[in-house]
Amino acid sequence: MSVPRPLAEDPRPNLYGLSRDALASLLSSFGVPAYHGDQIARWLYARRAFDPALWTDLPKPLRERLRRETAVAPPRAASRVTAADGTVKYAVTLPGGGAVESVYMVQRERVTLCVSSQVGCALDCDFCLTGKMGFVRHLTPGEIVGQVAMIQEDRALSETPFNIVFMGMGEPLHNYEGVVAAYRILTDPAGFGLSRRRITLSTSGLAPAIERLAREPAPPRLAVSLNATTDAVRDRIMPINRKYPIARLLEACRRYASATKERITFEYVLLLGVNDSDADVSRLKALLRRHSAKLNLIPFNAVPGWLDYRPPPRDRIVAIRDRLLAEGLPVSIRWSRGADARAACGQLALLPEVPS
Ligand code: SAH
Ligand code: SF4
Repeated sequence: MSVPRPLAEDPRPNLYGLSRDALASLLSSFGVPAYHGDQIARWLYARRAFDPALWTDLPKPLRERLRRETAVAPPRAASRVTAADGTVKYAVTLPGGGAVESVYMVQRERVTLCVSSQVGCALDCDFCLTGKMGFVRHLTPGEIVGQVAMIQEDRALSETPFNIVFMGMGEPLHNYEGVVAAYRILTDPAGFGLSRRRITLSTSGLAPAIERLAREPAPPRLAVSLNATTDAVRDRIMPINRKYPIARLLEACRRYASATKERITFEYVLLLGVNDSDADVSRLKALLRRHSAKLNLIPFNAVPGWLDYRPPPRDRIVAIRDRLLAEGLPVSIRWSRGADARAACGQLALLPEVPS
């Protein structure tokens, strides 16, 4: 069996992850008509055929030249763990070196793929295992879309509609260029051909990047990790808040919602004794009242030995939801999925079981 060479050792340009335009300009530099770029995009992203020898609608000499002078190096699944609820967590080997995790989830027929945007994360939220890894590097567009292709292949999703959430490892708006380029390939009709409504980007709140994203053509759905109702608490658990405090963040969200005409989802990780008081519930209501927003309550997922928090008891979580529902806020609880495979929110990291 041939083992794909890591791109780090392969000086040839990697076609996987190039947009249609980038493929066209590479072909122009070969002195070949640019429209072949559309055909190559279809082979790479719509049909997942990675050997140029298979690209039968291209002239044979071009196929041979591509095989010699370019590489097609998507990321590969190194291992997979299946949780009791059917969630599958993949460890993915990256062509540019290193690894990330991606997750496949099914809930009432609804399939969601959770992808990573960085190796590690620079934002250092205190309740998040990925944050404990620190920042290693940004993923390339090919390393992002390749996680989707890898799960499509492994789960035989050719006919099944699915959603994509940028809620794996990393802060997608810190890797703005890479993530937007990946989003373009995912929504390109000659690429993965996905509807933008099926793609949600989750951010910890990089306000200027949220505003920049709002100005992109056809931007994705947005989820924002609020996680606290006062700057004092948010400063402590999410250091990014010291740069973009809650009022600044909510202003960026308001602009995003008005540019996209779509509701933002706010995420709120419930941490016992930190952000779950009655006063928090009242403030949450007041903060979100002016936004046409949905709220997802996420009970904290523990990682013993690593994270020093606990979730509130189940009846308290339900009571918080019911109080907010009574106020007319669309709110749901995102009960953990895949926790026994350490695949739940905030549990993604390639770390040993317990710190030494
Ligand atoms: N960096 C982005 C996306 C990845 S984190 C962001 O922060 O939004 C995805 C979600 O997991 C975020 O809402 C985050 O607040 C949440 N999360 C992080 N650690 C968690 C934990 N231990 N338990 C539950 N949710 C967690
Ligand atoms: Fe990074 Fe998101 Fe984890 Fe914060 S919650 S450390 S932004 S991955």
